[in-house]
Parts: sequence; C-alpha cells; structure tokens
Amino acid sequence: MKKTKIIATISDLKCDVEFLQKLHQNGMNIVRLNTAHQSFDGSQKIIENVRKISTRIPIIIDTKGPEIRTNGGENIIVKQDEIINLSGNKQKKSNAKCIFVNYTDLTKNIPLNSQILIDDGDIALKVIDKNLNSLKCKVLNDGIIKKHKSINIPSIALNLPSLTEKDKNYVKFAIENNVDFIAHSFVRNKQDVLELKKIITENNSKIKIIAKIENEEGVQNIDEILEVADGIMIARGDLAIEMTQEKIPVIQKKIIRLCKKAQKPSIVATQMLHSMILNPRPTRAEVSDIANAIYDGTDAVMLSGETSCGSYPVESVQLMSSIANEVEVDSNKHFQKQNENRMAFLSYSAVLAAETLSCKAIIADTTSGKTISALSSHKCNHTIFAMCYDKVVMRQVALFYGVRAFYIEKCETNEDFKKECLDILLENNYLAKDDDVVIVAGSYGPAHGASFVEISKVSQLIQRENRK
Ligand code: PEP
Repeated sequence: MKKTKIIATISDLKCDVEFLQKLHQNGMNIVRLNTAHQSFDGSQKIIENVRKISTRIPIIIDTKGPEIRTNGGENIIVKQDEIINLSGNKQKKSNAKCIFVNYTDLTKNIPLNSQILIDDGDIALKVIDKNLNSLKCKVLNDGIIKKHKSINIPSIALNLPSLTEKDKNYVKFAIENNVDFIAHSFVRNKQDVLELKKIITENNSKIKIIAKIENEEGVQNIDEILEVADGIMIARGDLAIEMTQEKIPVIQKKIIRLCKKAQKPSIVATQMLHSMILNPRPTRAEVSDIANAIYDGTDAVMLSGETSCGSYPVESVQLMSSIANEVEVDSNKHFQKQNENRMAFLSYSAVLAAETLSCKAIIADTTSGKTISALSSHKCNHTIFAMCYDKVVMRQVALFYGVRAFYIEKCETNEDFKKECLDILLENNYLAKDDDVVIVAGSYGPAHGASFVEISKVSQLIQRENRK
C-alpha cells in the first residue's frame, strides 16, 4: 500500500466522474481545487463529482491570497531594452503605453532597481525611474504581456490584505460544502493564518489550514507559521520566482524537517511532472525530484497542470504512485525520539514496537487527529489504520503519510473499540488473523487522548473479544 499521498489539482473543465475515478484507482488520494481559476459553480461541480466516487476523499481548496496581476486590456508585445510604464489602478485597462496592475501602492512600495517578473517569470522588467503615478521599467527579455497574468516582485513585502473579498466568499463556500482543508496562498506570517482561522472558528467549522509558503517572508517566518497552521505546502511555483531558484531545494528540505518535528503534514508542490503536461514520459530529473521529496519525508506530493489540463493525467498519477512505491520500499526511515508528552511517547513507542517486532500495522483511534499526526510524523514503514469518530477528521488524517482512515461510532469501552476496528480491517482484508499489530488507543468515551499501547496477534485479540 502506497504511503505517500498524491494530491491532484482538478479543473471544472475536466472533472467527470469517470475521469476522477480513474485517477483515484491509480493512486490519487486527495483532490485540490485552485480558486484562482474557478467560479463557484465550477468548484461545486468538482466537489459533487468527487463525493459521488467516495465520501472518503479529502478535498483542498486554495485561496488566491495577496497577489498582484495585470488588469484586462490588450496583449502587449515587448522587446528587450524597450522602456514601458507600469501603474497601479484597479479600473484601467493595459495599452501599448502603460501596463495597469491591481496594486494601488505600486509606486509607493517598489524601490528603484527592483526586478518585476510577469507571467510566472517569463518576462522580467527592471525599475529604472518612478513618479507618483507609475514605474518606468526597462524590459529585460522579449515576450508578450497578457491580461490577468501574475506579477512577482522578489523580496518586497506587499501591502495587501491576506484575504481578498473573493477569498472570503470562497472560505464561506468551503465551509458550506464541507471541504476538509483550505490551502492559504502567500502566507507571510502567523497573522495571515490567524485571520483565516478566525473566520473558520466563527463559523464553527473544522476545516484545517495548510499554509502555502511561496515568498521570502513566508520562509523567514516559517517557525511562527508552523505554530498556528495545520500543515505546510511548499509552493515551489511562486517560491522559485520570489527567491533565487537554487535556494528552493534547501528550503524544501528544511520545511519538511520542521514539519516532521512539529508533527504536521508537508506537501511538495508544482512542476513535479511538468513535462508530462505535454509528453507521455517525464524527464529523469522529474522522477528524481519526486523520489527525493519522498526520501526527505514529505507526506504528500502534488500535481497541478499535469492533472488539471495536461494530456496525460492518469499516466502522471500512475507514475507518481510507482515512484512512491519504489522509494518507500527502499527508504530507510529513522524516526526521531519525541517523548515530551504522553501522546508523543506512546506514538514513538508504538512505532518502535512495530519496527522492532515486525508487526503488520498500527491501529489507533482518534478524536481530533492528533494521535494520528504524532504516529505519522515518524514516517515509519507501517500502515497506520486511523479509526476516527468524525467523518471530517477521517478525511483530514487521510492526508498524512502512511494513513488509511476509517469512520467508526464512538465506543464505550476498550473491548468494543478493538472488536469494531478488527472487524473492519479483517473484513476488508487489510489484516489476516496471523498478523501482529500494535494498538494505540484511549479516546473512546470522553476524549482524553491515547493512553495505552498494546502489541498482540490479531487471532489472540479476536479470541479475547469473543470470550467476553
Ligand atoms: C505554487 O505556486 O507552487 C502553487 C502551488 O500555487 P498556485 O498553483 O496557486 O500557483
């Protein structure tokens, strides 16, 4: 069973049930909707179709976050060394004389000599002069500046709110549609996460927040962000434009390490199989990129254009699954000793027992998902069967490395719990009577968190339960 989770970005233009089913059968575990490119109706259609396949597939919705884009208007062909003007005004349309963007503080905020990167960095400009209304820029390479394209200004802290009006409406939409995660774009600090969390809490929602790290401020403030976020996405698309490319692998490794320590999931995103948008086979470097992210201990790897608009979406998921399977067998995972509290100690002990005694699996119950994130953070070779008392928690823990999640009714006693989960796992052929398993439990009844670890053969557990 593949343990690394595959997130597939799905577009409303290609989201029929048969297609989603094929992706799911080939290893897609989680569906992601990118709201920057979707209407509410489009998003609704995807969610409905995903739920038709299974109510156990987690859904992530991205916010747009604080970003600058070119306004509407003409496509402008630019040549190297040409001079053009850039101005911040939400109403005006671009023309051959001036490119208008949606950031009104442009001239106040951007210093001389700054680099401005348009359309994922395809066109670079340098600010050579400015007045109250516009920036005078030198074009550094030929290209076409189109409407509604991204603008990145590396190392500049933008004076923009963390959530746009569209984002706020999408958060409400996510809450109403029982979505499991919001991946918040361009998180710069703890405050950006807390602002979103406030809306979620005010609406009594259980949605978890994944902070997308995609600029220098986010990287600098990763410790405080990780304190309040429920997980991190290393959004390498924008990150590699906002910072120099060679820094990205180091940042990626550091964030994965920090997430493991904090027992929160990490997602490596963007261009993992980019060449497969057009080609049936990936580059060698792409295969190694996926493998290395898994070796480093990421929980999930993500596909964007490959599944939302590419020509080989099913093949991309299939390939990612086979790379994950190959690497997981080989990777010699070393778990860290984390015994600062009861749950951390119990989860460490459970993993140690499973590894040392060659048990088949770890079974754990969870009310909030915390025990499961503690177990999964060790990135061990064993499947963790998460028995959840809440359907949202069931889908949320399904993001974690190595976790198979199930919903069960709250049990009165330890015995009831063991009977219930062994019935499910035996019935579905996840376990055989001869297997040794480790059980971490204790949340049945009032939620006090895990309180014991039990190591036993399945057949003995069944006999014991039958005698009662
Ligand atoms: C990224 O920039 O890598 C990313 C995941 O965000 P988006 O797809 O919204 O550009």
